[in-house]
Parts: sequence; C-alpha cells; structure tokens
Amino acid sequence: MIIPLQPRLTDAELKEITEIAAEFNVGIQPIHGAQRSIYALMGDETSQELINRIEGLAYIDRIDRVQSPYKLMARESKLSNHTITIGNRTVPGDFAVIAGQCTIDPNNKQFFYETAHAVKEAGADMLRGGVWKPRTSPHSYQGDAKSLYILLEARDQTGLPINTEVMDFDQAKLCIEAGVDSLQIGARSALNYRLLQEVGRMTKGTKTRVLLKRSMHMGPVSEFILAGEYIVAQGNPNILLCPRGTVPGMDGYRNHPDECITPLLKEKTWAPVIVDPSHSVGKAVYVPHAAIAAVAYGADGLCIETHCQPKKGVGDDPKQAVTPEVLGQIIRESRELHTRMKNLTKTLQTA
Ligand code: PEP
Ligand code: MN
Repeated sequence: MIIPLQPRLTDAELKEITEIAAEFNVGIQPIHGAQRSIYALMGDETSQELINRIEGLAYIDRIDRVQSPYKLMARESKLSNHTITIGNRTVPGDFAVIAGQCTIDPNNKQFFYETAHAVKEAGADMLRGGVWKPRTSPHSYQGDAKSLYILLEARDQTGLPINTEVMDFDQAKLCIEAGVDSLQIGARSALNYRLLQEVGRMTKGTKTRVLLKRSMHMGPVSEFILAGEYIVAQGNPNILLCPRGTVPGMDGYRNHPDECITPLLKEKTWAPVIVDPSHSVGKAVYVPHAAIAAVAYGADGLCIETHCQPKKGVGDDPKQAVTPEVLGQIIRESRELHTRMKNLTKTLQTA
C-alpha cells in the first residue's frame, strides 16, 4: 500500500508510479477514502527494487506492507479512518437505520410509498426495497425491473437515500445509472467473487455504498472480511458489512443469529457493521429482540424489513416485516443503547 506525503496524488504522480509498477507487472489501484487516498499495489509487490523505486520518489512517504490477508479492510490499513454516510448519519460514529419492505410489489405500489413515508417518520435514515429477489424456489415471485421506478419515486417523495439488491452485472448497471445510493449484495451472492469485483469496479471512485450481507455459508470471520476486500480492491471503500444469520443451528429461527460477530469484526476491520435482524430470526415477533442484542454487541446500525401492512406484503414481508410503529420503538431504544454502549466501551477501555 503506497502512502503519499499529501492526502492525494496528482494525475502526473499517479501516472509515474503506475508506469514504474507496470515494469514489474504490478498494477496500482487508487482507493479514495473520505480523508485520504491510498494506492494499493495489485500483484506481486515483493520486489525490493520496485519498493525502492517508488519509495525514492519525492512525493511518496513510504510503502506499508500490511501483514494481514485483507490489506485494505484491515484495522491497521490507512483506510481505518474511512467513514460512510447513510442519509444524515456517518458510520462508524452515529447509529444508522435502513428500513423498508423486503419486496416492492409493483401491483400494489401504494404500499411501498406508504411504507417509505412511515419508515422516515419512524426515524430511518435509508429506505430499502427489493426490486429483484433471490428466491429459494424458481416458482416464487422473482421481482420486477419496474419496481426500480417505484423505489426511485419513493426516494423523490421522502428524500431518503435508497438501497436495493443486485444479483448480476445488468441489474447493477441499471441501478448505478439510475443513481441508486446503496447496492445490496445478498447472502446468496456474497460468495460470488466475480460479482463482488464487478460491483467494486463499476462503483470505483463513487459514493455508492455496498451493503454486503454475510453468506449463510460463511464460517470464518475472515471469509466475510475478504469478501469486502474484493470490492475495496476494485476502488470502492464504501462497504457496509451486514451479518444476517447463517445456516440454522437450532430450530425455531429462520437462520442462526450471528449478531455477536460484531466485536470480532471490529477487532479486525474498520468497515462499519449494519446488522440485519429480520433475516436472522425470520419472524417479526423476534426481530426487536435480535435488533437490540445487535446494538448491545456494538453494531453501527440496523437493516430492518418493515411494511405498513405486513400481511398484505410479498416475499418475506408477511412473516418477518415489522410495522412502522414497532420500527419506531426499535429505533428509539437502539439509539439510546448505542450511546450507552459507546460510553461503556470507553469506560472498559480505560479500566
Ligand atoms: C433481503 O434483504 O431481502 C434478502 C434477500 O436478504 P439476504 O440476502 O440476507 O437473504
Ligand atoms: Mn427479505
């Protein structure tokens, strides 16, 4: 990782180091963080001659070699002060909430508009709504591109930034062209490294956030962080890590709740953690408990499926969406607890 003396290299400086690196078959990937840019060496960066040539340049401070499998996502990376905005909140630091329907029903778009206004009223910072849906059965409703216009209209009406899931290149392209604020990579796609790379490349140098769900088949914490590394390595550091439960380890919940992963993630990476309690427990009545537990474990925010009339929803909404009233209660409790947890963490650190 190349650390320049100034926060950003000029075009001429970037060209010069790119040419030097190319002599060693190494690429340079600029990654623009909120405070500074870093320049990752892509390829075999072990040549001492390459290091000497670059470190010898007047505008370069040094080359840092991060001893971690995730050089860019690591806590000790120069991106460690990078922060990401979700509406008017900045994470890590503030507490941010993404809420809205699992699925937008284009035949009942009035529900989505009503939900959008209600989640805003309840205190959400970003609106979610599924346009295309990854369904276990090919016979279930798969979503509809028309819903993208409903999502955009809901943003216009409420002023809330929007998040939706993309499963392939074409969907990502449509969303990026439409200016969708946050692309969700779902639990089923989180191991699709090609998609992670494509989304990273297509959003390089932009403010587009990527809400990366934890795959239900991911075990080691590092596997999740490395999935994020795929995106950052293509030039987009705006990664929100989203635990959402893994394969069920006990009967009763839809997935195995994994909100306790947050302290482990925080130890290893700077990326903010936005926990999804909805898919984790899979039933509306358990969602407030899982949400509060996630905040107690140090989450920077929550992503909660919410519907103005859950029983009339499609996809996951009838079983796991909470009402806007319940969302409001969760948000109020969570914001208070988040502040208390920050103070507790400080106290524990100095004890
Ligand atoms: C969703 O957010 O509606 C969804 C399908 O999530 P996941 O990928 O976590 O199952
Ligand atoms: Mn869902």
